[in-house]
Amino acid sequence: MDCIFCKIVNGSIPSRKILETDNVLVFHDIQPAAPVHALIIPKKHIPTMNDATGDDFALLGEVLSAAQTAAKELGVAESGYRLINNCNSDGGQVVYHIHFHLLGGEKLGGLNA
Ligand code: 5GP
Repeated sequence: MDCIFCKIVNGSIPSRKILETDNVLVFHDIQPAAPVHALIIPKKHIPTMNDATGDDFALLGEVLSAAQTAAKELGVAESGYRLINNCNSDGGQVVYHIHFHLLGGEKLGGLNA
C-alpha cells in the first residue's frame, strides 16, 4: 500500500495526532500553511471526492464533525477557519486519500480577499 495517509492511519508513518475516532483521524500538517493547519481524513482509503459513493457520504459527515471538534480544540472556532478539499490535478491534490485542510490562526487571504 503506497498511500502516505493510510500509513499514518496504520501507524507506520508517525504523525502529530489531534484527535481520533473509529473512522476518522485528525493530525497536524507536516508543512503548515498557516499557524493552525490540520488535516482531517477518513481512515478508509477513498482517493478523491470523485470516488465517494453511497455510505461514504455518511463517513464524510463524520469527517466534518471531527473538523468542527478539532477547530474548537485548536482554539480557532470563534476567530474562524477555512476547510478545504483539493480534488485532482487542477485542485492541487498531491495526496490521493480524501482529506480536508483546516486552516486558521490568522486572517486568511484569497478567495474573497
Ligand atoms: P493536498 O495538496 O493533497 O491537498 O495536501 C496534502 C497535504 O499533506 C500537504 O499539505 C502536505 O504538507 C501534507 N503531507 C504530505 N505528507 C505528509 C506527511 O507525511 N505527514 C503529514 N502530517 N502531512 C503530510
